[in-house]
Amino acid sequence: MLRQALTELGLTGHSRVLLDPPANAGADSTLALVHSPTTGKPIAAVKLDDERSYNAAIGRSAEAFKRWREVPAPVRGQVVRAIGNEFRASKKALGAIITAEVGKITSESEGEVQETIDIADFAVGLSRQLYGLTMPSERPGHAMREQWLPLGPIGVISAFNFPNAVWAWNAMLAAVCGDTTVWKPSLLAPITAIATNAIAQRVASAMGHEDLFTLVIGRDDVVGERLIADARLPLISATGSCRMGKRVGEVVAKRLGRSLLELGGNNAAIVHEDADLDLAARAILFAAVGTCGQRCTTTRRLIAHEKIADALVARLVKAYSSVRIGDPAAEGTLVGPLVNARAVEGFAAAVAAAKLQGGTILVGGEKHAQPGLPGHFVQPTIIRAPANNTLPIASEETFAPILYVFTYRDPEEAIAMQNSVAQGLSSAIFTRSAGLAERFLSPAGTGSDCGLAYVNMGTSGAEIGGAFGGEKETGGGRESGSDSWKAYMRRQTCTINFSGKLELAQGIRFE
Ligand code: NAD
Repeated sequence: MLRQALTELGLTGHSRVLLDPPANAGADSTLALVHSPTTGKPIAAVKLDDERSYNAAIGRSAEAFKRWREVPAPVRGQVVRAIGNEFRASKKALGAIITAEVGKITSESEGEVQETIDIADFAVGLSRQLYGLTMPSERPGHAMREQWLPLGPIGVISAFNFPNAVWAWNAMLAAVCGDTTVWKPSLLAPITAIATNAIAQRVASAMGHEDLFTLVIGRDDVVGERLIADARLPLISATGSCRMGKRVGEVVAKRLGRSLLELGGNNAAIVHEDADLDLAARAILFAAVGTCGQRCTTTRRLIAHEKIADALVARLVKAYSSVRIGDPAAEGTLVGPLVNARAVEGFAAAVAAAKLQGGTILVGGEKHAQPGLPGHFVQPTIIRAPANNTLPIASEETFAPILYVFTYRDPEEAIAMQNSVAQGLSSAIFTRSAGLAERFLSPAGTGSDCGLAYVNMGTSGAEIGGAFGGEKETGGGRESGSDSWKAYMRRQTCTINFSGKLELAQGIRFE
């Protein structure tokens, strides 16, 4: 599958990918083995960067930035348009690489590439709309305006679970803003990154723009730490765990750089007694089980009104029992494997902790044995909290398909429970009451404390047109739509005196 997809993309001979790695590849520090989550077996190896090749890559990106920023923004948009079209043509093959490397089911892998296509379209439009403001000057014969300028080469760190789209959210916007991108992907998904970057750079090069998109691949202590400390990169946009974000935030702040952090979530869905339970159950099923629970926006906590909790949970248990687990490339599969053995250990540890803490397993809770596929499969799991709603493990983000169920009587109690965790990414309420929905979205900020708040929809599957990101330990960054582009530019306030006289602000006299 991997070889065929790379062939379709014209990348079989790529110098960084070894489809038939040597027997000692695992012991070679210049290589990283890539494993299939579906079989647990190595499928390729990739060549890693060292200090020298890292420095050369950043140098090329910095030089390319000096040329690229001179290209008018709408012309930059035309390059991004051509890149988006190439991703359109490559959707199936890229999707197959994502499935091979991280185990997403085919429709979700292709959906991820669609997100890349969508953000490229969005960026093309944006290339004619990098608007500044004008404002009245307090001085006669003066004009004031604000303009947005290219920032520099941008460092992008991506998580394994969106190995294609996270780069695009950053790189497509950065490109129309006049920036170049240096991408450090996860070592769990380097081939998707190699293919994605190669497609984009091939198009840009053919249009006369070398090194707009650069890739550095390596271990966190060799390449990751070097990247975040690198003063040549004015912005580091990092997606991953809260643990990683705390480290990146600290190192970038120390050099007074900018960081854009998109970190872990612990997302809840509140289901009120007046909700449409069929709709809620379907939405929660996809949000909790999709991508095998490995989305930052996965629903991890269900907060159900006590009057409907049993009925809703019964629907979910039935649906969970019929979800088809298996080969993510096979038609009809809804749940593929977790990404690696460590993720399975995390799943098992969370289930064990929940049991110890008084939780009741309603469905799942075990590893899943898939005939012929010795990969990292687990059963989607629902665990009911004890009657006192105390289940400490539920305040952690376990990157696996575990849904913890809590109950409430009063909506205020439900909102407080939803907000009680350290992370603040995504949230949802299911209700037919317009009043309660508005209470959840209160403009006073007393409703959901998350960056994303949905009504009668699940917590995952954001559209690219809105700003994406979360609060508290989720890091505060915003990517993708709305005015997220401003993070990739620097703002300049310009004041022009055309009066012929010098006048100081605030009426100061200095004569
Ligand atoms: P991770 O934190 O293990 O790794 C993420 C990336 O950070 C990888 O590229 C990794 O190599 C890099 N990294 C780690 N330490 C680093 C360091 N010291 N210096 C530089 N780079 C470093 O996360 P993961 O397991 O790949 O992904 C899962 C996590 O990502 C979950 O917590 C999930 O919620 C989060 N995530 C968040 C979003 C979002 O938009 N908020 C999106 C996807 C995933």
